[in-house]
Amino acid sequence: MSGDNKNPYDNICSQLEICTTQLGMDPGIHEILTHSKLIHTVSLPLTMDNGEIKVFTGYRVQHNDARGPYKGGIRYHYEVSMDEVKALAMAMTWKCAVIDIPYGGAKGGIVCNTKEMSIGEKEHLTRRYTTAISQFIGPYRDVPAPDMYTDAQTMAWIMDTYSVMQGYSVPEVVTGKPIELGGSEGRTEATGRGTAICLRECARSLDMPLKDATVVVQGFGNVGVHAAMTLSSMGCRIIGLSDSRGGIFNPEGLDPSKVLAHKIETGSVLGYPGSEELTNEEILELECDFLIPAALGHQIHEKNAGNVKARVIVEGANGPTTTEADEILSKNGVFLVPDILANSGGVMVSYLEWVQNINRQHWSLTEVNQQLESKLVTAYKNVWDMKEEMGVNMRDAALGMGVSRVANAIQQLGLFP
Ligand code: NAD
Repeated sequence: MSGDNKNPYDNICSQLEICTTQLGMDPGIHEILTHSKLIHTVSLPLTMDNGEIKVFTGYRVQHNDARGPYKGGIRYHYEVSMDEVKALAMAMTWKCAVIDIPYGGAKGGIVCNTKEMSIGEKEHLTRRYTTAISQFIGPYRDVPAPDMYTDAQTMAWIMDTYSVMQGYSVPEVVTGKPIELGGSEGRTEATGRGTAICLRECARSLDMPLKDATVVVQGFGNVGVHAAMTLSSMGCRIIGLSDSRGGIFNPEGLDPSKVLAHKIETGSVLGYPGSEELTNEEILELECDFLIPAALGHQIHEKNAGNVKARVIVEGANGPTTTEADEILSKNGVFLVPDILANSGGVMVSYLEWVQNINRQHWSLTEVNQQLESKLVTAYKNVWDMKEEMGVNMRDAALGMGVSRVANAIQQLGLFP
């Protein structure tokens, strides 16, 4: 799942190695952190609508639970691979620690192309996958959530299948559910909203005005849409947007709500009135104040990093920048807010949803958004302060914070036996 061929797991392990060296960490603890605790591969036979039997492959990787139950999204995409899921599970461990919520990291995925599947096929595949991993998940064991090409409906099917198997309703087994089933107010928009909050805090810390700041968003899905809408309401000018089919550009600014309506009607952002069409490569290379990659991993790599003209990159997607690209961007003076901070709003509100579920409560949108705002502002400030203190960049500071919190938890728990 990448714009280059670098293995995503090698990429995150290189980041970890740089970080543990900077922290002077015990090599044994480093070794523990490079391994996933549990790795599950499941085969999922399914009768398709045309009567044909197809066998899909699903994964669930549980990286580390020293700080609490595993937590992480489930992705449906034809390029899902074990190494990608392992990398994303590890990133979840650091993310939960950076924002200081009591979870470990996990991730799941099914190799499939949802664009070629009917709603019924998607439902059956989801229920089969849930059945296959049901003994490894649970409210105090591992709590899945949506990711690329999965949504609240997918979570409802998982909740229902798991509940049927338990014999009673277990809403707290997944987060990102529909509101009627115990989902939290504000969860759908939380990741994009959190990305916008981090961008705003970044503008503040770099003394960049937010009013009329130019923003480009790659990937106009859940994260991209809500980041663009929130930033537009903060006064930013969204000049470029893209989806899997290509990008659109208007230097005067695009209205994200109207582009969304156009995408719902036509299936793509392309053809939006008054915009110029660009390729996905060109979108990443537009001159702008802020670039938000909010689609796939490894979109900014060593071949195109030198062409990035944004002053700041705020990573809405997971792993959109390779380590080689990081070095090039840093030499070129591009400031970067890393994924484990910039897209942590989703897991933050997932945590709030889980807390509401286990306490059988339902909070107002205002209450949820206030908690998201205050927790993310604190996390941003902590990472910024660590960056200043250690004299490193934001990625190394965020990783340093996450990794050292997990390492401390492992040391306090001790090794059994
Ligand atoms: P989504 O499926 O809702 O949207 C993905 C969007 O990316 C779609 O608009 C799709 O057309 C577009 N896209 C696909 N390939 C593209 C390409 N090559 N170039 C440009 N656009 C492309 O997914 P999402 O939930 O918005 O997730 C996006 C990213 O954010 C992923 O990396 C995901 O892991 C990460 N993320 C999501 C959440 C969440 O709560 N949804 C939380 C944290 C991180």
